[in-house]
Amino acid sequence: MSKVFFSSWNDTIIDERNKLSDERIELKKLNLPDEIGGKSLKALVGWAGLVVVDPDVNIVEVVKEYFLNVQQESCGRCIPCRAGSKVIADRLDKIIQGSGTEEDINILEDLADLVQSGSLCELGISSPTPLLHALKYFREDFTAYINKSSADPSNYDYRAVMTAPCRNGCPSHINIPKYIECIKEGNYEEALAVNREKTPFVGTLGRVCVHPCEANCNRQPVDQALSIRLLKRFVADFGLLNSYDQKYIKPPIKARPEKVAIIGAGPAGINAAYQLALKGYGVTVFEALPVPGGMLAVGIPSYRLPRDILNYEIDLVRQMGVEIKCNTKVGVDITLDQIWKDGFKAIFIASGLHESSTLGCEGEDACYMGFMPGVDFLRKVNLGEKVELGETVSVVGGGNVAMDCARSAVRMGVKEVNLIYRRTRYEMPANAAEIKAAEEEGIKFHLLANPVCILEDGGAVSGMECIRMELGEPDASGRRRPVPLVGSEFTLGADTVIPAIGQVADFSFITDDCGLELTERGTLVADANTMATSVPGIFAGGDAVLGARTVIEAIATANRAAEAIDSYLRTGKSEVGSSLVMERFIENTGVYKEEMVPEMVGSRERLEEEVLTVEKRLAGFSEADLGFRCPSNVINEAERCVKCLRLGLAVL
Ligand SMILES: Cc1cc2nc3c(=O)[nH]c(=O)nc-3n(C[C@H](O)[C@H](O)[C@H](O)COP(=O)(O)OP(=O)(O)OC[C@H]3O[C@@H](n4cnc5c(N)ncnc54)[C@H](O)[C@@H]3O)c2cc1C
Repeated sequence: MSKVFFSSWNDTIIDERNKLSDERIELKKLNLPDEIGGKSLKALVGWAGLVVVDPDVNIVEVVKEYFLNVQQESCGRCIPCRAGSKVIADRLDKIIQGSGTEEDINILEDLADLVQSGSLCELGISSPTPLLHALKYFREDFTAYINKSSADPSNYDYRAVMTAPCRNGCPSHINIPKYIECIKEGNYEEALAVNREKTPFVGTLGRVCVHPCEANCNRQPVDQALSIRLLKRFVADFGLLNSYDQKYIKPPIKARPEKVAIIGAGPAGINAAYQLALKGYGVTVFEALPVPGGMLAVGIPSYRLPRDILNYEIDLVRQMGVEIKCNTKVGVDITLDQIWKDGFKAIFIASGLHESSTLGCEGEDACYMGFMPGVDFLRKVNLGEKVELGETVSVVGGGNVAMDCARSAVRMGVKEVNLIYRRTRYEMPANAAEIKAAEEEGIKFHLLANPVCILEDGGAVSGMECIRMELGEPDASGRRRPVPLVGSEFTLGADTVIPAIGQVADFSFITDDCGLELTERGTLVADANTMATSVPGIFAGGDAVLGARTVIEAIATANRAAEAIDSYLRTGKSEVGSSLVMERFIENTGVYKEEMVPEMVGSRERLEEEVLTVEKRLAGFSEADLGFRCPSNVINEAERCVKCLRLGLAVL
């Protein structure tokens, strides 16, 4: 177990240099792993300071290496950063070579101040920090070089990673700062290409991503976060209009002889297929439904995600040689055993959660006409099947699925849509924008209420008996537990009741003897880094592993799985590549700090998108949110980015 020798990370000084090694604090207390890719962490140098694990690590050398990396990453717009980082690296080299003087050490301090004060972006502002900390706390390591002949350089394995709070907040670590810079220059083609490194679903994410990047945007405490999601949507839509993708989507390379099978054509399955096809594998995706896309196609309504956008992005993956076999349910039309027998060398399970959770109330199992679980209702609507709703619909739940059900019902001409949720508006898991739009569209919220019985008349739903709730002590989720108020029952009439309180998996294709493990929550057990399951060659990702989460998280698991599958097929060992390892590693270091308010942000307000009027929205399933359409406005929004770039260097 690694111990901390010294740390100045985030200005908290942990100086264990005068303690015996077993008395020092453990590295995991700093949220840092002991090793990266099987090699022990010796030190971490970065925007927030220094962490020294190995007492013998050569601080001067590692700081020099850090500045060589800063120099490479510096964009050159601020001369103090570009030139200063080179002068610092040269001066450190001079010291290491044994020809430095005390004066050189003093000059390093002045140079660090100059780079810090003369740079506009966080790379220049933050990169001198580890040098200043090294000079303050390890000065004797520098002076020890004076008047000495140079020693052989240490043979460290260095892993550098450029990050930013937004990029770090994105589960897929899309290089947001880079594509925002491309947009500033009007280079939308390159901006799209940067997104395509991680996913084919750029236009899709530009519409439905829950954008954790924006919650991490450092502008937020100053005024409002940058509109990162809508900038992504703009480059995808612009690229579609201008056929940018034709340059990037290459015909199948088929450089590898092995075939990979994927179960489920949702965002996790298709993203894994995309990455594996880019690596040259033949990929077949087995999909139970008549259409690919998973919940993007049969869950999210088309007024939020137009199907021409989704289908275009899935077709890009098909053009790369990926075969998607629809109407092929694994466990019914083909078994796992048969997949192995057909010569596939690895399997990625991305079958999602397509069964509804139960309400636990009387009458829900009675098969009354008009009782329709949310995912079944949305699937039918999205597949164009006939759905009779009547005049009054009650949707139960407070998440995005419930909002999608309620907002779809009003678009289908239902006169009254009621939404019943057991907590208050503040605990609703749905996005704030969805809640606002639902209210604008006339959906009536019945908060602090819960159904106790489904009422029927002649075998058809006639309403629900509900009970009022109050909030008690917080539960395991941290939200206050809803408690029924005895004697507060009331009745709500309804022709249709749609429960939308969660989804569970159907793993009927997994046989008891196949060795795959399930969690108590009914999800698949897989390694958090490689997504490898307990069965060699079988990997899993997306909602099937994470539980009901988000598109961007499903994509993140697929990207890790694709790297691990590639490594498994090449070497027999499931590992992810060093850049993904470093992205995950740096996630733990706390890149976003609310109190780190950037200076000189400018005063331009966040650009908001155009939205259809309520009247037009309710007329059908046309796209409700219109995104950004004017390139000059888009460049202005991108200009609001204050470039919170940060460089980290792990020493192994
Ligand atoms: C109504 C709704 C709205 C949502 N809105 C958002 C949103 O706005 N933003 C967001 O980020 N997330 C949203 N989500 C969540 C998001 O859609 C999921 O997290 C994501 O789709 C999970 O991707 P996945 O690939 O793991 O699974 P899925 O998208 O569920 O895809 C799994 C696929 O596997 C197929 N499959 C299942 N079993 C088999 C089998 N035995 N054989 C063959 N194929 C099989 C299924 O038919 C399906 O196509 C929403 C979810 C729902 C239900």
